[in-house]
Amino acid sequence: MTEAAAATAEPARRPVRAAAPAGAPEAGVDAAKLQKEILAELTYSVGRTPETASTRDWFVATALAVRDRIVDRWIAEHSGPIPQKRVYYLSLEFLIGRMLFDAMNNLGLIETAREALDGLGVDIDAVREAEPDAALGNGGLGRLAACFMDSMASIGVPAYGYGIRYDHGLFRQGMRDGWQQEYPEDWLSFGNPWEFAHPEVDYPIGFGGFVEQINEGGKPKQIWRPAERVEAVAIDTPVVGWRGRHVNTLRLWSARAPDPISLDAFNRGDYVGALADRVRIESISKVLYPSDETPAGQELRLRQEFFFASASLQDLLRRHIEERGDVRSLPDHVAIQLNDTHPAIAVPELMRQLLDIHGLGWEESWDITVRTFSYTNHTLLPEALESWPVPLMERLLPRHMQIIYLINAYALEAARAKKPSDDALLASISLIDEGNGRRVRMGHLAFTGSHKVNGVSALHTDLMKQTVFRDLHSLHPDRIVNKTNGITFRRWLSQANPEMTKILIDAIGPELLDDPFRLEKLVPLADDTALHERLVAARRRNKETLAKIIAERNDVWVDPDALFDVQIKRIHEYKRQLLNLLETVAIYNAMRAQPMRPWMPRVKIFAGKAAASYRQAKLTIKLANDIARVVNSDPTVRGLLKVAFLPNYNVSLAERIIPAADLSEQISTAGMEASGTGNMKLALNGALTIGTLDGANVEIKEHVGDDNIFIFGLTAQEVEARKRRGFDARAAVESSAMLREVLDSIRSGVFSPDEPGRYRDFVEGLLNNDTFLVTADFDAYFAAQRRVYKLWRDRAAWMRASVLNTANVGWFSSDRTIGEYAKDIWNVTPAEG
Ligand SMILES: *Cc1c(COP(=O)(O)O)cnc(C)c1O
Repeated sequence: MTEAAAATAEPARRPVRAAAPAGAPEAGVDAAKLQKEILAELTYSVGRTPETASTRDWFVATALAVRDRIVDRWIAEHSGPIPQKRVYYLSLEFLIGRMLFDAMNNLGLIETAREALDGLGVDIDAVREAEPDAALGNGGLGRLAACFMDSMASIGVPAYGYGIRYDHGLFRQGMRDGWQQEYPEDWLSFGNPWEFAHPEVDYPIGFGGFVEQINEGGKPKQIWRPAERVEAVAIDTPVVGWRGRHVNTLRLWSARAPDPISLDAFNRGDYVGALADRVRIESISKVLYPSDETPAGQELRLRQEFFFASASLQDLLRRHIEERGDVRSLPDHVAIQLNDTHPAIAVPELMRQLLDIHGLGWEESWDITVRTFSYTNHTLLPEALESWPVPLMERLLPRHMQIIYLINAYALEAARAKKPSDDALLASISLIDEGNGRRVRMGHLAFTGSHKVNGVSALHTDLMKQTVFRDLHSLHPDRIVNKTNGITFRRWLSQANPEMTKILIDAIGPELLDDPFRLEKLVPLADDTALHERLVAARRRNKETLAKIIAERNDVWVDPDALFDVQIKRIHEYKRQLLNLLETVAIYNAMRAQPMRPWMPRVKIFAGKAAASYRQAKLTIKLANDIARVVNSDPTVRGLLKVAFLPNYNVSLAERIIPAADLSEQISTAGMEASGTGNMKLALNGALTIGTLDGANVEIKEHVGDDNIFIFGLTAQEVEARKRRGFDARAAVESSAMLREVLDSIRSGVFSPDEPGRYRDFVEGLLNNDTFLVTADFDAYFAAQRRVYKLWRDRAAWMRASVLNTANVGWFSSDRTIGEYAKDIWNVTPAEG
């Protein structure tokens, strides 16, 4: 698209400007040149010869050669004019995955690199696999941050991502007898070629101590005297956008002890004690907090939050003052986005820096703070709303606790002025929850300190207004906005599914890579049988690849022609992997009862990690593996039904499973999944969704059309009503003969002959308290699955629906999402489009 055309396009559809035809080698780099550069890196940076180099050595050499090309642009960008406004994206998680193909894809270097490495007798696909995943996140929230970094660099929003450089990312999941085992993850053990450590960029971070009030020129002034100090050291990774036009920075903080060793202790011969302080202090950036959607009741977690929030603020304030000279213009040049409440402590920390260090008054400081911050809410689950005990805050961050009390006092005063004598309202908007021990509500703190608060899908945003933030919303009716999540198509289509991408380019032109709305050009081709055939063949190869992985990892043979029914995501009760397992058992029972019916072969594929402390989720994994063992070894259903739980779900595994999926399971209890992004990745790759009206499923349905998605089950409103009335699972089971049989077989030990009582309490618990309404939705889900198979029998109709999914999900590009944030929240103008 030309710039002129782009300027007249609707804002939400603003595409990335095209510079070169797709797949064209980057100007000035041919394979011979890149090969020379890789060899030079291998020699001088890795210290190996081609004869002695391991695959990992080749990976490092290739990554360094690619990195050099990014650095040239990075430096050019940073030595250009100062951007009018920068975005700082604060996130405790960045679930990035591998970076080599991401960078090469954005630079148009994949084919050049393939040729260069081929010429050296090196297999580029093996090199790709040698890179460890950067798994600095638990799931959707961290992956969103990674997609946003890619999109900000692609559409030209000047930005820094700020987070923690964990030495150990999300645990590696192993299986022992079908039970999840957690093993430490070690992504840095062979070094990280993408990052630049800047030990000279370090900031002091305090903890504990006391607040001293001094008198400065007749005015009282608070000075925090922390008892402990940690240094935050910057480690930078360049983030290159599409076609390499913009490069942003991901700046991750690593904790360093001010004193590397206690010489006194060492000289006394206490070698362990000599290092104890250092180990304790540096533990802040040792491990990603291994929890998903559950409160972190741990002091270390609060230390992590403050550590990275404070370092990031010190860093951006220093940059702002260097560039603009005056802290008071901060909101004109800086937008800070809080990814969930994990960085919410940044609100009182900015206040502290403005008040105590820059000497501004309260009102002015508060005005600057609110105009600078905005906050994204990711969950409404009560158990996942972060709060901290007041005594812990007071001990660890005494000055911040003072400031939080003051923020609260002013907010309550303003509320009372608006709505006098409404005590319930005051209790509900208070930053302090007086209910169960006094706790600081981090969501309320983030809301109060932000000018915009966003939900991540239309439904989620509506529910936010009705539930957790109802009263805050009534006081600030313009603050809550919706920004439906998105995904980067560069990773989740071009890189993950190159064959399909090529077919799409042949069909509708390479511009789809620059402007995902171009996918709509597929609509008139939805019934094109030649296109169907090519897509089916490509998917079939992706399914063969996945079948090989399943054979290797699970020792299970699956038929690539079967329907691949996929549920891949964190294991959580609200996501209802259990509902899928119950249907699996139901269909298994039906196949055994009537083996002669013309069943369509199917493979149930699961993957996902359970939080280490989440017993129910871990038992669900065990149940999946128990069902898999029984089903996969039953000769009656051989070839008709297979079940595979693939261990260690991460970004790289997702990139393998998604292009091979036929059916996408998005079956959370309505009202509980804020958005989902796995649903978008799968629909983009042509899988049909079976799902509830939850999160972004609602909007996916609106985009792909009712005929091209399988919706079932209770709506969020109906769920709410059922719960209010008190839902009786036993009655639901009584009225469904099939469900009764399924639960009886699980309870009686059909799938756990080695321990027949293993699931007795599990099933009893479900009957007594079905919080997630699994039994309520079972029959509707089973019926929806039958609709799936009816369509699957008619391959032309199925492929039509599949093409229409791909064609109509361009809107779910994170470029669109970031464009909306830029316009409605950050007030920055992207350079592209
Ligand atoms: C996309 C993604 C998620 C989020 O999946 P949901 O289905 O939206 O929960 C989690 N983990 C990984 C590795 C992902 O790629």
